[in-house]
Amino acid sequence: MREKKQLNYTSITFLMLFVAALFITSIFYSLYTAERGSILRTWHTNTVQAARDVDYYMTMPKDAVSFAAETINGMVERGATYEDVGKYLVDQTVIYASMIDENTTGIYAYFDGHYLDGSGWTPPRDYEPTERPWYKAGIEGGGEITFVKPYVNIQTKTMMMSVCCMLSDGKGVVSMDVFLDGVQEMAERMARKADMDSSLVIDKDGFVVAHSDAKDIGKNYREEGDAFQQELVEKLQSRTSGEYEMSENGKDYIVISEPVGDDWSIVFLLDKKNTFASLGEIYFSLGAALVGVVSAILAVFLHISQKQRESMRLGREILAMADIYFIAVRVEMATGNMEVIRGDENLERLLQNDFSNFNGRAKEFADRMSSERSKGLVHNFMDPRTLKERLFDVDSITQEFMDVRGRWVRLRFIVVDRDEEKMVSELLWTLESIDEDRKQQEKLRRLSETDLMTGVKNRGSGEAMIRQKIAEGNQGMFLLLDADDFKSVNDTFGHTVGDKVIISIADALKKAFRDTDVVFRLGGDEFAVFAEGVLDRGVGTRVIYRFFDELAAEPLPELKGRGITVSVGAAFYTDTQTDTFEALYERADLGTYESKRHGGNHVTFNEKM
Ligand code: GH3
Ligand code: MG
Repeated sequence: MREKKQLNYTSITFLMLFVAALFITSIFYSLYTAERGSILRTWHTNTVQAARDVDYYMTMPKDAVSFAAETINGMVERGATYEDVGKYLVDQTVIYASMIDENTTGIYAYFDGHYLDGSGWTPPRDYEPTERPWYKAGIEGGGEITFVKPYVNIQTKTMMMSVCCMLSDGKGVVSMDVFLDGVQEMAERMARKADMDSSLVIDKDGFVVAHSDAKDIGKNYREEGDAFQQELVEKLQSRTSGEYEMSENGKDYIVISEPVGDDWSIVFLLDKKNTFASLGEIYFSLGAALVGVVSAILAVFLHISQKQRESMRLGREILAMADIYFIAVRVEMATGNMEVIRGDENLERLLQNDFSNFNGRAKEFADRMSSERSKGLVHNFMDPRTLKERLFDVDSITQEFMDVRGRWVRLRFIVVDRDEEKMVSELLWTLESIDEDRKQQEKLRRLSETDLMTGVKNRGSGEAMIRQKIAEGNQGMFLLLDADDFKSVNDTFGHTVGDKVIISIADALKKAFRDTDVVFRLGGDEFAVFAEGVLDRGVGTRVIYRFFDELAAEPLPELKGRGITVSVGAAFYTDTQTDTFEALYERADLGTYESKRHGGNHVTFNEKM
C-alpha cells in the first residue's frame, strides 16, 4: 500500500517534469525561431546596407559620365570640334581626380573619329577604340548610362569596369573607368566584420566582381564555377532580395542576396550552423537551466511533502503512543528544566505550571503522583541523588505503582542524552497507565488459579497458597475430602449430574469455610481445605459438620432423594519448625482412608505422632 503510494508520487513527479520540459521546450522553440528570424532580418539589413554602399560607390562615376555626355552633346550642338571636346575631358578629369581619383582613371571618349583621353594617356598604335568593350557597350546602351563588364585593365593591371554613354551623334561614346578595389575592399571588410563565410558581388551573368576571397575575383561562376557556384548564379537570376538555403560538401549555407544597380547582386554566404550555433547554445543552456530550476523546485516541494507526510505519520504515532504514554516530559539534568512533550490535566496538576527545578521538586512530584501505599517506593525511584547512578548502565528504568486515584501506572525514566562521562544529561520522564493491563493480568492469573468447573482454587494454586501460609508460620487445620461412592452417581445418573454433585460439594465448602481459608479441588471428587487458626478437634469438628449440613442442604433433585456423603481426613499443622506440607498431606490422606472404612460423612483426625 505504502509502496504503491510512493510509486504514485514518483510517477506524478516524472510526469510533471516531462510536462515542464515539454512546455519549456516549446517556449524556447518559438523563442528560437523568433530569434532566428531576427538574426536573418539583421543579415538582410546588412546586405541592403552593403548594396547601398556599392551602389553609392558607383554613383559618382555614373553621374560624372552622364554629366560629361550631356555637356559634350551641348558643345557639339554649338559646333564644338573634337579638340574642344578633348580639352573639356582633360578639365573634367582634373575636377574628378580631386574628388574620386582613387577610384577612376579619368574620363575618355571616342568622338568624331578621335580617341580623346582626359588623363593624357596615349593609346598604343594598334588600339582601336571602336573595338573596345566600353565603346561597344556605349553604343549598345543607346544614350543610357551603361556598365561594361569588369575586366583587367591594361593600364593598371587591376580589376576595373567602365561606365559609358553614347553621345547624341550616335557614334561617339564617353566613358570612365572605375577601379573595383573599393568594392572588393567592401566585400572583404563585410566578411571580416560580420564573420561570415564569404561575401561577394556578382553580376547577373555569373561574373564575380568582388569576393572576400580575392582569388575568385574575375571568375565566371556560370561558366567555370562548381555545381554550388552554378546553382548560386541560377538562384540569383531572379535578382530580387532573398534568402536561400544551399549546401555544399555536407555544409549548410544560408545565402542572402540583394540587387545592386541593374546588373549586380551582393551576396552573403553564411554558415548555417555558425549563424545559429550561439543561439542554439543559449537556448539550450537556458532551457537546461530552467529544467534544472523546475526540477529543483519540484525536488524541494517533494522533500517538503515527504517531510509533511512523515510528520503527519509521526503525529499519528504520537497520538497512538498517547494512549499508552499519557505524560512525557523532557528533563535537562544540569539545569533541572523541563519541557512537556505530551501532557494532560494530570501533568498540569503535577507540575503546577512550573517547568523548572526537577531535582529539587522530585519528592514533591512523587507525593502528588502516588497513592499513600506507594509513596515510599516512588520517592526512592524519583530520587535525583541516585538517578544518575541508576541510569549509568541502562537506558531506561521503570517502577510500577498505584497512583493517587488507585490506578496502576508505570513510571519510566529514559536516557535521551549523556555527557562525556556517560552520565545522563537529558532524560525523558514518562508515566503510562497500565491499569487495564493489570486488570487483565489479574483476570488471567485468577483464571489460571481457578478450577473452572467449581470456581474454587485448582490444585496448583491451592497447594502453593498453603505452602506459602505454612512457610510464613501460619498454623491451621488441613482437610482432605473425597465423595463416597461417586462412581455410582455417574453410573446411575450420568456425568452431567455427577458434575452437578461436584459443584454442590464445592459450593458447600465455600459456604462452610471463611474467605480467608484455602479451599481447592484436587481433581475428580476430591477437595482440600486449609483452615488457618483452627487448632483443635472441637473447633475442627464443628466446622466440618457445618460443611456436612451445607452439603445436605444443596438442592440436588436429580439424585431422587439419594444423599451425598463425604469422607474427611483431618490433620493439624502446629509444629511450624519441623512439619512439612508433604507430611501434613500424608496424615490427612491416611485420615480419609480411615474415614472411608466408616462410611458416610465421617471425619478422622490424624494427630502428628
Ligand atoms: P469411594 O467411596 O471409594 O471414593 O468410591 P468412588 O466411587 O467415589 O471412587 P473414587 O473416588 O475413586 O472415584 C471418583 C470417580 O469420580 C472416578 C471418576 O469416574 C469420577 N470423576 C472424576 N472426575 C469427574 C468429573 O469431573 N465429573 C464427573 N461426573 N465424574 C468425575
Ligand atoms: Mg470418591
